[in-house]
Amino acid sequence: MPFVYCTILLRSGQALTPARELCEKVTVLALIECKNVTLAYEKNVVLEDLSFEVNEGDYLCIIGENGSGKSTLMKALLGLKAPLRGEIVRGDGLMRNQIGYLPQQTGVQKDFPASVFEVVLSGCLNGSGWRPFYTRAQKQTALDNMAKLNITALKNACYRELSGGQQQRVLIARALCATGKLLLLDEPVTGLDPVASGELYELIDHLNRAHGITVIMITHDTAAALPRCTHILHLHKDTTFFGRREDYAQCSVCAETLDAAGNPAVPGEKEHMHHECCEHHIHF
Ligand code: ADP
Repeated sequence: MPFVYCTILLRSGQALTPARELCEKVTVLALIECKNVTLAYEKNVVLEDLSFEVNEGDYLCIIGENGSGKSTLMKALLGLKAPLRGEIVRGDGLMRNQIGYLPQQTGVQKDFPASVFEVVLSGCLNGSGWRPFYTRAQKQTALDNMAKLNITALKNACYRELSGGQQQRVLIARALCATGKLLLLDEPVTGLDPVASGELYELIDHLNRAHGITVIMITHDTAAALPRCTHILHLHKDTTFFGRREDYAQCSVCAETLDAAGNPAVPGEKEHMHHECCEHHIHF
């Protein structure tokens, strides 16, 4: 658990004196902390005893083969699925409805008959409470988020007439209306061409680095996504990895476990689990 020591400067006569002895030791809660979480459908356990934390400013990529439990974990982080055991703790006053979520794209969403501004603004609905209209502040939030995603010029365009990459930007701007803190992105570049994918990754980097937005992203696109993130959670039925990207990348055994799709593909996972570099592995 990280701690912050507040350095308070007090006026003492003419000089500013660091008064470290007066400093309080403040515990900073992770934005999200999974503590020994087990997720299951009925009695079918999908993820067992999973622990990790996401701190403010992190960019976490969640990878793993199909069926490894990525979407189930996402539902749990969104508060849509309760853990069978363990707990998911949200820190820093993060409310469940303050998590911006970009679901996987479906054909129906692509055909949504509304203007870009209307789609982005609808992301403010969660914070509207009983009000049947949007406030001026909410409209400004929508405009600000459109600016962050470079889609201001598309304000009055019809959403369904946009390219796939533009639609994803609109949906991220919409997700941002729910939050200034945390974005959950589920396969955001699926279906996009390499140029549009690259542009979207750049924008996600920019949101993370320049605007301090914490990002959690499910991806199969490991080659493009992993070099950008700060942390990796690699779900696998026997062993999982959670740690900093550098630790993952320096671990040759871990690197060898990834094929082009990001799936573990190495036989002999017992040695893998005991490899010096792999001490972050958590055993299921
Ligand atoms: P991923 O997103 O990594 O592909 P999922 O979280 O979708 O994995 O699924 C993990 C496992 O949970 C799979 O075996 C899947 O069949 C099962 N599963 C997913 N959703 C449900 C559900 N609603 N009811 C029962 N089993 C489910």
